[in-house]
Amino acid sequence: MSDKSSLMDFTVLTIFPGIFNSFLEYGIIRRAILNKKINVLPLNIREFATDKHSATDDRPYGGGPGMVMKPEPLSLAIKKAKEIAPLSKTILLTPQGKTFNQDLARSFSNLDGLILICSRYEGPDERICYNYIDEEISIGDYVLTGGEIAAMIIIDAVTRLIPGTLGAEDSAEKDSFTNNLLDHANYTRPRSFEGEEVPEVLLSGNHLNIFKWRLEDSLIRTFLKRPDLLEQRLYNREEVEILKKWCKELDRIIQTQSIHSSFTLSCNK
Ligand code: SAM
Repeated sequence: MSDKSSLMDFTVLTIFPGIFNSFLEYGIIRRAILNKKINVLPLNIREFATDKHSATDDRPYGGGPGMVMKPEPLSLAIKKAKEIAPLSKTILLTPQGKTFNQDLARSFSNLDGLILICSRYEGPDERICYNYIDEEISIGDYVLTGGEIAAMIIIDAVTRLIPGTLGAEDSAEKDSFTNNLLDHANYTRPRSFEGEEVPEVLLSGNHLNIFKWRLEDSLIRTFLKRPDLLEQRLYNREEVEILKKWCKELDRIIQTQSIHSSFTLSCNK
C-alpha cells in the first residue's frame, strides 16, 4: 500500500447490492465510512449484463441442476471495479478458497483495497478464475447461498484492524487470535450478578496485578478452548513463569494422588 493513511476501498460485485444497505448504516462500519477510513461501493453485476433480458446466469454446459453465473457481465463488472480502484486485490468468494482468519484479515488491512466478487447459484463460469482473480477466499467449510455475507464478514473483520477505526486505538491488539491467544474474560457493572461476583483483583486498582491476572486468564482460556493456538506461539518470560506455576501445581496434585494410590506420576516424567 502506497499511503496507509489513505482510505481503503471495498468494491463489492453482487446481483443484490441492496443487501449491503443496513450493514453500512451501523456501528464501526458506518463510523469508518463517515471518517473516511473506508469506502464501500456495491456494484450491481446485472448492470453489466449484455443481453436484452439482463441475464447474469445460464444453464450449465453438460447439463445438471442449478445455474452458472455468466462470464461476460462478471468480467465487465470486474473491469469496471479495477478502473475505479486500480490498486485493489481481486478476491473471489467461494467455499473452495483459502479459509479466512485473523491473520488474513490483518494482511488485507494493509492493502489499498479489495474487490470482493459475490457469486450465486452454482458459482461463476470457471473461465472468470483464469485471468481476473488474485485470490479465492472462503469464510468456512459450509456452503452459503451467495457471497454477500462472506463479503460483509471480510469487510467487518478488516475494517476494525485499520488504525483509527476502533474507539480505543489498541483494542484490536488484545483481541482473540492476536499472538495466538484468546481474549481474557471481561466484566462490567453490577459487581454482583445473580450471586456471581466480579473477580476481586479487577476491583483492586492495581494495574500490574490486573495485567497479570488477564494474561493468565487468556492463557487458561486458550489452553481450555483452543490448545492448538498455544502450540503456535512464542512465550515471553512472564508467560513461561505462569506455565511453570501451573506445572508445579499440577505436579503437587499428582503427588497427592500418588500417596493415595499405587501410581507414581509426575509432571516431570
Ligand atoms: N457450487 C459451489 C460449490 O459447491 O463450490 C457453491 C456455490 S454457492 C451455492 C454460491 C456462492 O455463494 C458461491 O459461488 C460463493 O460466492 C458464495 N459462497 C458460498 N459459500 C461460501 C463460503 N463458505 N465462503 C465464501 N463464499 C461462499
